[in-house]
Amino acid sequence: MKKNIQLKKDLLPILRCPICKSKVAMVGEDYIKCSNYECTASFPVINDVPVLINEPESIFRIQDFTLKKDTYVLGELRAHWLGKFLPTLSQNLKSKANYARFVEHLLAQTSNPKVLIIGGGIVGIGLNNALDHPDITFIESDVAFGPRTTLICDAHDIPFEDMVFDGVIAQAVLEHVVDPARCVQEMFRVLTKQGLVYAETPFMQQVHGGIYDFTRFTHLGHRHLFKQFDEIDSGMQNGPGMALAWSYEYFLLSFVEAPFMRKLVRLFARLTAFWLKYFDYLLVDKRSAFDAASGLYFLGRKSDHILSHRDLIRLYRGAL
Ligand SMILES: [Zn+2]
Repeated sequence: MKKNIQLKKDLLPILRCPICKSKVAMVGEDYIKCSNYECTASFPVINDVPVLINEPESIFRIQDFTLKKDTYVLGELRAHWLGKFLPTLSQNLKSKANYARFVEHLLAQTSNPKVLIIGGGIVGIGLNNALDHPDITFIESDVAFGPRTTLICDAHDIPFEDMVFDGVIAQAVLEHVVDPARCVQEMFRVLTKQGLVYAETPFMQQVHGGIYDFTRFTHLGHRHLFKQFDEIDSGMQNGPGMALAWSYEYFLLSFVEAPFMRKLVRLFARLTAFWLKYFDYLLVDKRSAFDAASGLYFLGRKSDHILSHRDLIRLYRGAL
């Protein structure tokens, strides 16, 4: 169920201009304007959803949203009819338990936490229970109008004041941003002292989402991305079984270009390889599987200390 976040009462006081980070004000019901007289940027509000994009810096344009152009290739993929009737190649073995821990840590630090979800237009895998928690306010941002989108923003320029969130979530997001380090820096900025971050990011996965897919991370690469955070936990949520199933599907897809044929191949791959993901129940906590994970998570706490490169390599968890 969507939490009742009111734009004027709850959001506006903490919103900032995505370009210059100055305070913003409503102009009528349909616009938000930057209060900095040297900036004076204005941003549309569409059906109560503000569109706060730093246009010169972003791959998205405000016009994409005012014209309701579909910016969400991934949403389309997830909603595809095949997905409703067939077994999938994917499975996430950790997110539900990890979100429960995220909530536990959050409530140990503050009684009414505020959490920003990046890529929260639709409910993330395993996130349902956390979203229903009565004491936590979730603000769900995305680059598309999903059923839960509270505001449209680009994670490269998060339009909120400094240190306003107790937690930030980015599940399957950081591969879809052009500059992940800058996005994590923004997440760091909007977090309170000791604020929590939870991220899930692919390692061994093929390109998904077409033009909106840029980067993959090893476990150490992902840890380095969050170098300004202390680690609470990290590991794999999608294992080598899923990675193999995806590889098989994309290997088969490499032979065909026609859209209809690609649909048929996806169907064939799902029916013949869905079972591979079940091996991940055996492999998800094994060192020997770490370097072949399909996806990795990081749960951490904002820190004053930056993880050095030398300390980083001590954290290697695979089996050489
Ligand atoms: Zn501004």
